[in-house]
Amino acid sequence: MRKRLNLHIKGRVQGVGFRPFIYNLARKHRLAGYVRNDPSGVHVEVEGEEKNLRRFILAVKEKAPPASYVKNIHRRVVPLQGEEDFLIAESRQGEEKFVFISPDISICKDCFKELFSPGDRRFHYPFINCTNCGPRYSIIEDVPYDRRRTSMREFKMCSSCEKEYYDPHNRRFHAQPNACFRCGPSITLVYTPKERRAGKLNRTQSDAVFKEAASLIARGKIIAVKGLGGYHISCDAYNRGAVDVLRQRKRRPTKPFALMAADLATVKRFCYVNAREEKILTGARRPIVLLRIKKHMPWMDSVAPYQRFLGVMLAYTPVHHLLLHYLRRWQKYPLLVMTSANHSGEPLIYRDRDIFTLKSEVDAFLMHNRRIYVPVDDSIVRVYNRREYILRKARGYVPDFIRFDAPTCILGCGAQLKSTFSLARGRWLVTSPYLGDLHNEKTYTYFIRTLRHFQKVFSFNPEVVAYDCHPEYMSSRYALSLSGVKKVPVQHHHAHAVSCMVENNLNEDVIAVVFDGVGLGTDGAIWGGEFLVCNRRRIRRYAHFDYFPLVGKDKAIEEPYRVAAALLYEVFGEEVYDLKGKFVEEVGEKTVGMLVKLIQTKHYVPSSSVGRLFDAVASLLRLKDKISYEAEAAILLEMVARTRGRISVSPYTLTVKRKKGKYVIEWRQMIKELVNDVNSGSSAEEVSYRFHLSLAEVTAQVCSLIKEDTGYEKLVLSGGVFQNALLLNMVMRRLRERGLKVYIHSRFPPNDECISVGQVAVAAEKIKVFKKES
Ligand code: ZN
Ligand code: ZN
Ligand code: FE
Repeated sequence: MRKRLNLHIKGRVQGVGFRPFIYNLARKHRLAGYVRNDPSGVHVEVEGEEKNLRRFILAVKEKAPPASYVKNIHRRVVPLQGEEDFLIAESRQGEEKFVFISPDISICKDCFKELFSPGDRRFHYPFINCTNCGPRYSIIEDVPYDRRRTSMREFKMCSSCEKEYYDPHNRRFHAQPNACFRCGPSITLVYTPKERRAGKLNRTQSDAVFKEAASLIARGKIIAVKGLGGYHISCDAYNRGAVDVLRQRKRRPTKPFALMAADLATVKRFCYVNAREEKILTGARRPIVLLRIKKHMPWMDSVAPYQRFLGVMLAYTPVHHLLLHYLRRWQKYPLLVMTSANHSGEPLIYRDRDIFTLKSEVDAFLMHNRRIYVPVDDSIVRVYNRREYILRKARGYVPDFIRFDAPTCILGCGAQLKSTFSLARGRWLVTSPYLGDLHNEKTYTYFIRTLRHFQKVFSFNPEVVAYDCHPEYMSSRYALSLSGVKKVPVQHHHAHAVSCMVENNLNEDVIAVVFDGVGLGTDGAIWGGEFLVCNRRRIRRYAHFDYFPLVGKDKAIEEPYRVAAALLYEVFGEEVYDLKGKFVEEVGEKTVGMLVKLIQTKHYVPSSSVGRLFDAVASLLRLKDKISYEAEAAILLEMVARTRGRISVSPYTLTVKRKKGKYVIEWRQMIKELVNDVNSGSSAEEVSYRFHLSLAEVTAQVCSLIKEDTGYEKLVLSGGVFQNALLLNMVMRRLRERGLKVYIHSRFPPNDECISVGQVAVAAEKIKVFKKES
């Protein structure tokens, strides 16, 4: 019997060769109908014999293209249409003109095989790709997505490539960046900007470039490598001399470098890799994955000083694979440092003309002539409870479409340090990649440019603009500079909480625990140790850490000893100078005195930031007084706590008091006990572990109280402090033991990258109410 089915296939099914796959499959099973994309997935209508339909659906699940992932297939029977043919339909341009753009995809298994098959016409071709893999987001200038609107338009396909492109049975059917030695981009190695760059290269010439680059790296040189979303700076990770030189040149004393390996075997030599991590490492997105170090080796002290984890990714472009391939002449398990090429504090370099500004830092430039249109950094993830926990969302992950009911076009401008923006319209919300620190002028330019790009390709005209209450954030200034739009300020921690609600599909009253570094509160204080009761529209601050004085705005963040001194003064008053122990001795009585004076004369901002408490404890333990990258002191504290053996310790005393209708967490006793411990010679490992434990205990205690008071059981966790997996673990366990249903981030990072999402959702809710009232 003939039947017609409507199938809605959800999962990662777009820009991964899914439509040609469906097309071929339908034809194979002699089915008529069509396949069409929209941001919610792939829509298929198929009609034919029932047994063929059954086989078709089975094959969709079992034989889906390598880069895809079929989450579920929703099917319903529809009336027969009597069509004869099966077609790939244009994406529908209905009320929602959201055009889907795929993230960039790492090289697929088939292309990898061809890359190293001597008989293949693309043997060793550094820009091999197909419908299942290759550049997407980073080369798209406009939509609809076809070659003319990408940076591939500069390359005219040769007849062989063209034939593949128009053949629906070919893996390169409609592969926009399709190319080969004869017609596509080529690689080059230059030492100075003046050198002439080669045009088309044959295989031998191209191989020679990689051999030379590999030999430079093997000899300890540092080179810039143009990748998918921008340039990297690269050197041999095992060569301490080279890595140390790189650190000096980049003036980056301790921040860990990301690593790149050719295969899992290399990674497993020095890191533990569980099944989930393996899947992510080898998957289509290829982020940097934080992996626990198996055995400490001396080279790690240069690559990632004092870390217990290494950030590792597998090669994701043919260029990387060829470079690593030729390095095998020197090493069996080559490993590269692959750090984003930029000037300190500035955004990723992606234009050829800009990379030469690094000529004093690198010895050579491995480049190619396929233009990167939109820069995109490497993503960073870690696996937590078998789930992916994203710390930086960029290459391979963006653009990402989230189902969201937007009452109108809304723009969320994000925060400052980890800038992103989000746009929502119709039924979708889409977020920019991580854009960097907006303090920097170039990053701000990059923010504006990316925003314009998104507005163009998603044909988006914001009517409502949501922004952080902090008036000095560049993102807020941008929002305030706009005219003809409705502006909605959103409190920072409210945005944190709501972003976590959005990705967990919560739209009700919940408890929210938000621990982060800095965010402006509604009372003018710097918040960051917050317990809220909130929904998407409003918050009530239910509890918080008691205030301490934050002296010197940005300096307080860069120099943890300032917070430490303030805490000591709060606890010990003038006796602070009589404290034995190294703190006052090493920081200096004069410096401490200066800070005390500033506090006494009220030159400070009160703060409840847990991030700053971490800093202060790291300083009290004499681990770090000045940081060289964001959250360094807190990370160090976590690493030290993890080194602790299995001695049982008890938490320090944190008391919960009721003040003006709020619970306030009193930390003075804890600091007193902690200082005592330090001065009586307790190890840093033990003290930092106890500190973690104390925070976890008090968090659970306060949440229980709020649950009793309000009856709410659902709880969201957000804020940069929860990038600390040790703390996250302790907190989660205790909250669950107390019967709370805990939701965490998995689609957005817990840090300020999630702020723009929360802003959009809060504004959407406020607008709905506003619309109802008027
Ligand atoms: Zn491929
Ligand atoms: Zn060609
Ligand atoms: Fe924050």
